Amino acid sequence: MSFGRFISGTPFTPEPRFQWPVGKRCAVMLCFDVDGETTVLSEEAALAGRLTTMSQCAYGPRVGVPRILGLLDHLEVPSTFFIPTWIVEQHPKMTGAIMDAGHEIGAHGHLHEKLATLSPEEEEAVLERSLKIFREEVGIRPTGYRAPWFEINPGTVDLLHHHGFEYNASLMGDDVPFQHENGLVEIPGNWMLEDWEQFAFNADPAWGFVPEDCDKVFRLWWDEFEAMRDYGCCFVLTLHPWLSGRPSRVKLLERLITGILESNDAWVATGSEIADWVSRHPNARNEIDFDHPGS
Ligand SMILES: [Zn+2]
Repeated sequence: MSFGRFISGTPFTPEPRFQWPVGKRCAVMLCFDVDGETTVLSEEAALAGRLTTMSQCAYGPRVGVPRILGLLDHLEVPSTFFIPTWIVEQHPKMTGAIMDAGHEIGAHGHLHEKLATLSPEEEEAVLERSLKIFREEVGIRPTGYRAPWFEINPGTVDLLHHHGFEYNASLMGDDVPFQHENGLVEIPGNWMLEDWEQFAFNADPAWGFVPEDCDKVFRLWWDEFEAMRDYGCCFVLTLHPWLSGRPSRVKLLERLITGILESNDAWVATGSEIADWVSRHPNARNEIDFDHPGS
């Protein structure tokens, strides 16, 4: 290392963090967490009587999902929908429509339970109940998992592996995928690429913030996409149909996906496609952690 040789205007060209399929510089995973009414019910069952609050969240599966499916069909991009199985039971035709459109469905609790509030036995019981409902209601066995509120327990990774899952999309300690010791693939996300912080608001009970304008949110997400593309990262966007299914926000999503597609070197893939790539290419990751490589 020698210092003092900087030439003004020389661009910094980072090494890509990951080797993606030929011709692709980064990966894009579009996630829709269809929490719907469980957003309310997982907080407090008595809130079921708050019909306006409930209806705001039911807007997701009833209006947001059909609208988002229309956009994804128009743009011909695959996505991953993480759905609590309470929602699957209440909205089986919506769930079927997502499947018929060719998107992936992942597990996301039953009633969007916060895992930190569950014992290991309770956590496994929720997972088993969820898998049973997926099997009986829509005839599928999800291979991907996203923890409600993204938060997992120390035993969750082994629990998912034990129940045959291929990947988890809940941790936030990196911006490219990696494999846990048991082989389970992790596809990390982060709160910046989430719509709750941008758009969530409820008067009583009080949630969220003053909703942001779409131009500001577009800039936030687009700047991160462009930088993640430079670094060869995995851009994991997490949206909730009750928030991002509102008309101007679907337009925002159209602008974002169109820009991503026009870049020509972003691989837009489902979680299971990304997990499969990671499993088959164990040396694809460019490790940069000085102290904990490969973790
Ligand atoms: Zn959720």
